[in-house]
Amino acid sequence: MKTIGLLGGMSWHSTALYYRLLNEGIQQKLGGLHSARILLSSLDFAEIATLQDNRDWNTAGHLLADHAFKLQQAGADFILIGTNTMHISVPIIEQVIDIPVLHIADATADVIIKAGYQTTGLIGTRFTMQMDYYKERLQAKGLQVLVPDEFGCTRINDVIFEELCYGEIRDGSKQDYLEFIDQLVEKGAECVIEGCTEITLLVKQEDTTVKLFDTTAIHAQAAVEFALSTG
Ligand code: GLU
Repeated sequence: MKTIGLLGGMSWHSTALYYRLLNEGIQQKLGGLHSARILLSSLDFAEIATLQDNRDWNTAGHLLADHAFKLQQAGADFILIGTNTMHISVPIIEQVIDIPVLHIADATADVIIKAGYQTTGLIGTRFTMQMDYYKERLQAKGLQVLVPDEFGCTRINDVIFEELCYGEIRDGSKQDYLEFIDQLVEKGAECVIEGCTEITLLVKQEDTTVKLFDTTAIHAQAAVEFALSTG
């Protein structure tokens, strides 16, 4: 079994989910007392959030790359970045390490395409919804991507940074998210990506008839399969 190098703490609420999902996934596949081999480097999210606010992607990228390098040195076989947003740093990280990064957008696009969808809505942080680094990756796989309007992006982003990353789950926010999801469907989305690793704590598949793709679960599942693959 390969050792997973998890870059976590962004926020720790979703890293806790990753930890559970990775272990459950390995146990389901191998049975018995098997569990995942994980090396975790958990960052201080306040530091990352400040760099995000300042749009200092270069410093943030080098910070993550430094942690990824330490995971590689410690014996990780591949890197899992436990946040959609900080996949913005992948190009910098890949310059520094020799082991692969299992990209969350690639894993998600593969699952969506396999399920037969072509046009997807995307909700996540403002960066994930409005910058190109994430959407481009989905589009490169052949998907069309729709995002909420400015009002929706602001509200969705605020809930992530002011509630979900503190572990706060509020019913009013859930209702707003469900409305934004419906609006994406009205615009033509056939399904919606929960493109922030904390959103699954707020909105679950049973809350809506719209098909949701939970990036935390998809990414963890992809990591389990890669960890157990040969070569
Ligand atoms: N975990 C979130 C994501 O998946 C947001 C936190 C961050 O900005 O890294 O994008």
